[in-house]
Amino acid sequence: MSSAGINDVESWEVEGQLSDHYDPSHKRLALSTDNYRGTSLAALGVSAHEAGHAITQRRICDDVASPDARTSGPVCGRRSPTR
Ligand SMILES: [Zn+2]
Repeated sequence: MSSAGINDVESWEVEGQLSDHYDPSHKRLALSTDNYRGTSLAALGVSAHEAGHAITQRRICDDVASPDARTSGPVCGRRSPTR
C-alpha cells in the first residue's frame, strides 16, 4: 500500500472466519487471525485483496471529478455535498 501512497491505513487482527474486510470509514484492514498471522499463499492473497480495496478507495477519493468521489465525501474525509 505504501507504494500506492497509502500510509494511513491500519491493519487489525479480528476473530472469526471469513471476517476479513476493509473498513473505509476507519481506514482499517481487518484480517482474520489465519490471514493476519499466516504466511500461506492464501493468507497473502486475502490480504492483498483487502489492500486492493484501500487502493481503490484512495483512487476514487483522489479523482475529485468522479461522481463516486463526490458521493463518498465522508469516507474521503470531506464533507458531503449539500443538495
Ligand atoms: Zn473484498
